[in-house]
Formats: sequence, structure tokens, C-alpha cells
Amino acid sequence: MLHVGASPVTGAATDLDKLDHRALEDEHVAHNYHPLPIVVGSAAGAWVVDVEGRRYLDCLAAYSAVNFGHGHPELIAAAKAQLDRVTLTSRAFHNDQLGPFATALAALARKDMVLPMNTGAEAVESGIKVARAWGYRVKGVAPDRATIIVADGNFHGRTTTIISFSNDEQARADFGPFTPGFVSVPYGDAAAIEAAIDDNTVAVLIEPIQGEAGIIVPPDGYLAAVRDITSRNNVLFIADEIQSGLGRTGSTFACDLAGVVPDLYLLGKALGGGIVPVSAVVGNRDILGVLRPGEHGSTFGGNPLAAAVGHAVVDLLATGEMQERAGVLGERLQARLRTLVGRGVVAVRGAGLWVGIDIDPAIGTGRRVCELLMERGVLAKDTHGSTIRLAPPIVVTAEELDWAVDQLEAVLEELRTG
Ligand SMILES: *Cc1c(COP(=O)(O)O)cnc(C)c1O
Repeated sequence: MLHVGASPVTGAATDLDKLDHRALEDEHVAHNYHPLPIVVGSAAGAWVVDVEGRRYLDCLAAYSAVNFGHGHPELIAAAKAQLDRVTLTSRAFHNDQLGPFATALAALARKDMVLPMNTGAEAVESGIKVARAWGYRVKGVAPDRATIIVADGNFHGRTTTIISFSNDEQARADFGPFTPGFVSVPYGDAAAIEAAIDDNTVAVLIEPIQGEAGIIVPPDGYLAAVRDITSRNNVLFIADEIQSGLGRTGSTFACDLAGVVPDLYLLGKALGGGIVPVSAVVGNRDILGVLRPGEHGSTFGGNPLAAAVGHAVVDLLATGEMQERAGVLGERLQARLRTLVGRGVVAVRGAGLWVGIDIDPAIGTGRRVCELLMERGVLAKDTHGSTIRLAPPIVVTAEELDWAVDQLEAVLEELRTG
């Protein structure tokens, strides 16, 4: 209440609430994001409501962290029940949620071990550490020589080590010096991976579909070739499924679409059900078993609240309904979007309910399209200038998707004729 009176912004009475929140963030939150001008007050399912009561169809779903919709009743129930029992123990002690969660998650991934962490970047960092330790202790790489092959255009998070192998200059500028030990090759080019492998290579780390790069789907056969090359060369295949995994693409993992099983899955985002940060490295004991007590950890990793929510997410996925729904609705969405090609859209690509749309730069930027979509009640996010991505919660309906495409069609028409 203090803040309302102290607002540096004046405006119409009906706007004051919204303007106030935006101004407060502008004043007191570091400017590491450039949000669309909407202030969310509540949400349910595929819809969010702003502080003025306007409804928007959420076609970002918090970058796939809200795959199952806002406030999914089973996930909220699991969280509420656990809130009343115990929320944090640290892993200095056992808790009665972590073991059952890890067992269920490992089964979902057809693996036998889980390393629980919190954020996606931590899962990536953990995967890197596990791969290096495996390289030295199992493969026999000389001390401090391990290298990991990554792909151009990757996005794996924001830590200093992870940005060390990004080629997004915005993500790197003024944050060096960088961590050595990474080699980047073109995405989608399996031969380039094979050529980059030497005796010190411990892992290939890739996204099965590159999310932040604009939902880039690799050529057919790429993931199978990566699996074959890594197996033949005694190199780990680490799939970052933090955004692509857990139902989004129409299957549990995007790797499933190519019939490929990596050595390690990196999971995050939707694993926390949109409620708490939950991430994990999932693999087999011959790899994850290299970690010994004291070598790696996290105060919050594997906490009982996170484990209870993560377990409820795994239970939700175990039926296969979410995956199937994403596949069916995704086909419908992509088919409708393809009709816009040539009418303001240059290209459409994706997998399941995860679509990248390249906007004709001649009519406007991705940001401008997202602003106009917002005015029509659809929330989406641009990436790399002229691409917008659609990734609605999987609980969205076919009618809602059709309506969202109608809004995009109207926005494009407005820009083309405006
Ligand atoms: C979001 C994302 C990450 C990082 O996750 P955070 O929870 O933001 O740290 C890593 N990899 C991929 C593919 C992602 O989409």
C-alpha cells in the first residue's frame, strides 16, 4: 500500500494499478528482461488475468515450465499436502519424498538414477561435472583435458560456464573470462561432431530441438547419428530436454520422436509443475554413480516439496494423455499456421505444441507482433528478432488454439495493410 502512494507514475485512475507495478519493477528490479507491458495477477489453466481483469491466452507457458497449465489441480493438491508436512530438510538427512520421486522419474526415463537439482542451468552444470568425472575416472582421460562438444546456436542457461560455450554475443559480452573445455560445431551436422571427437572428448551436449534458437528441428536422422557416433567413440550423449521434454513435443522426450535414448537427460522447467523449480540429471548408475559424497550438491536439491511436486508431474505424464494431447493439438496448430505462410509468415516449424514462426521482417519485428497479439489477448514471445514462438499449456483446447491463430492472422493483416 505504501508503494501506491509512492508511485513515480501518474495516470488515469483505472490504469494506476498496472502502471504502478510496472514502474516499481522498472525502478527496483534489475533490467535483465524486457517484459511485455502486462501485469499478471492470477491464472488458471491456459489463461492468465491481468491486474485490471483482462484475460489472455498464455501461448508461452513460462517457456514450457507451465506445460500442464496454471494451477493444475493435481499438482496444486500435491504441493498443498506437502506444505503441511515438511518442505525442506537438506540432504544432510533423508526425506520420505525424494526416494519415491527419483524412482518414478527414473522409470519414466527408463533409467535407474536421478541427480536432483533446482534450476535448468544447475542440471546442465551437473551434467557437465558428471561427464568430466566420468571421463577421468571411467574413460581414462588425462587430468584437466576433458572436452565437451556442443552445437552452435545452443541455449543451456546463464551461468558463467554455460555462457562460455554460447555463441549469442548478448549472453556473453562483458561476462568473461570464460570456462575452457568446449568445442562448438554446427547444429544438425552429425559429421561435424564425429570430426571434432578426439581422445579427450567426454560428451556431446545438445538440445534435441533447439528452443531459444527458434524451435529449430534438426534434420531427420541427426539424433540417431549422434547416438551412433557417441556410442562408437565411448563418448556420452547428453540431451538437454529442459524445454523440449515432459510432453511438449507430443512425447515424453523429444528424443523419443527420433527413437533415440541418450546417456543422460537434463530435465527442468515443467518438472516443477510451474510451482517450484525442480531439475534433474537422469541416467544410469554406471555414469551418475561416479559422484561420491561431498563432490557435488545443492541445499535445495531434492527437497521434499520439490520432490512431491515433481512426483505428481511424473504421475501426470505416466498416463501418456498429456503427450498425446500435445501431439494432436500441435498438428492442428501447425496446419493452421502453415496457411499463413506467404501472408506475413515466412516459415513455420515445430514439434507438437511447440512452434516457431518466422515473421516477414518487411512487415514488422517479432516483438511488434507480440505486442499486437497482447492487445488482442494472446501472450507470446519473440526470439532472435523476427521469430515468435507458440508454446501454450497442453491443457489448451482446440477452439482456443484456433482463436489464437485468428488473432495472429488479424495482426499480420493489420501490419501488412497498416
Ligand atoms: C531454460 C533452459 C535452460 C535453463 O533453465 P533455467 O531454469 O532457466 O536455468 C537450459 N536449457 C534449455 C534447453 C532451456 O530451455
